[in-house]
Amino acid sequence: MRNAAFECPGCTAKNRISVDPEEGEYQQTVVTCSNCGRDVVVEISIDPETLKISIFAETE
Ligand SMILES: [Zn+2]
Repeated sequence: MRNAAFECPGCTAKNRISVDPEEGEYQQTVVTCSNCGRDVVVEISIDPETLKISIFAETE
């Protein structure tokens, strides 16, 4: 597991998540913002060579 962070689109608070690269190069999950409680759709892209994690977050 690797740690990653994203900014909540609703309140701009930083949220931390754990990402398992073995679950695939593209993952989508819903995380409840720890600050404002909104459900945030988090799209995770992992570069297969560098394992660099890119995150796109949006509220539903
Ligand atoms: Zn928030």
